[in-house]
Amino acid sequence: SKSPVGFIGLGNMGGPMAKNLIKNGYSVTVFDVSEQSKEDLRKAGANVVSSPAAVASEVDTIVTMLPSNPHVIEVYTGKSGILSTVKPGSLLIDSSTIDPMVSIDMAEQCSKKNATFMDAPVSGGVLAAASGALTFMVGGPASEFPAAKIILENMGKNVIHCGGVGTGEAAKVCNNMMLAISMIGASETMNMGIKLGLEPKVLKDVLCTSSARCWSLDTYNPVPGVLEGVPSSKDYQGGFATELMVKDLGLAQNVATTLKSPTPLGSLAHQIYRVMCNKGYARKDFSSAYMFLQDEKEE
Ligand code: NAD
Repeated sequence: SKSPVGFIGLGNMGGPMAKNLIKNGYSVTVFDVSEQSKEDLRKAGANVVSSPAAVASEVDTIVTMLPSNPHVIEVYTGKSGILSTVKPGSLLIDSSTIDPMVSIDMAEQCSKKNATFMDAPVSGGVLAAASGALTFMVGGPASEFPAAKIILENMGKNVIHCGGVGTGEAAKVCNNMMLAISMIGASETMNMGIKLGLEPKVLKDVLCTSSARCWSLDTYNPVPGVLEGVPSSKDYQGGFATELMVKDLGLAQNVATTLKSPTPLGSLAHQIYRVMCNKGYARKDFSSAYMFLQDEKEE
């Protein structure tokens, strides 16, 4: 039978990911600080425990899916963190989007306990998390990649080894900077076209069979009613929060500063989403950039 897996961080992404492990026949031991998330997973058949340390004392393969750097540091190295009880030989896979330097630091601390840490951030959003269609970008030792892949394949359709630890996060930070820019482009373009009198769905169809086609238009269109099931058609709830996109653009700007790599549009996008956070969009999906532009023009 399949060896049990631990899962810590059961939010918009981690919740459906952990459920896919259960659906695929794994026994899953979970922890989150949110009671509601734990209850949701208990109903789905998970074994709920009271701390990351409790997860690590029960199982030797753990996936973490947390908001950002401080949460990852706390869950791994905090007082009741994974590393306080981790078993030698454990495989610890972090799918959070964090600073690649933090991943490298976590890997060093894990190796002192004879455990392997791999970064494996994801692309695809909440729908892909639910349908098991995520892309995983994995950093870590090649020798451990096959073991990580066996687990991650239950939650995603692409599992790509990017190189040593931190390279998965490096790829992810690049992806999200581009995504952030393209969503603002999609939003201002759809907004202008609709003002010109085009039907939103017709405009989307034209753009998506033309050279403007991109994921922000064809899979995650920011205009309510153009696509079914996406956050824009659900009052921008339950997707990828604007505040998390600001976090990712901050990671990109840190990298850009360190490497002296010019990112003029990444920098502007960072500031636009930051203003959105200050205008009430922090917890809404980042495709609410479309609504933000609406607010700016009317009245
Ligand atoms: P979320 O805020 O919905 O979920 C995070 C979960 O972590 C919450 O349930 C929270 O209670 C839990 N948590 C926080 N601190 C904790 C701690 N100390 N111990 C245990 N649990 C803790 O976030 P999300 O949308 O699921 O995103 C998770 C990560 O995935 C982020 O790094 C994000 O950037 C990345 N990501 C998100 C999406 C998306 O579309 N939502 C897509 C790709 C990547």
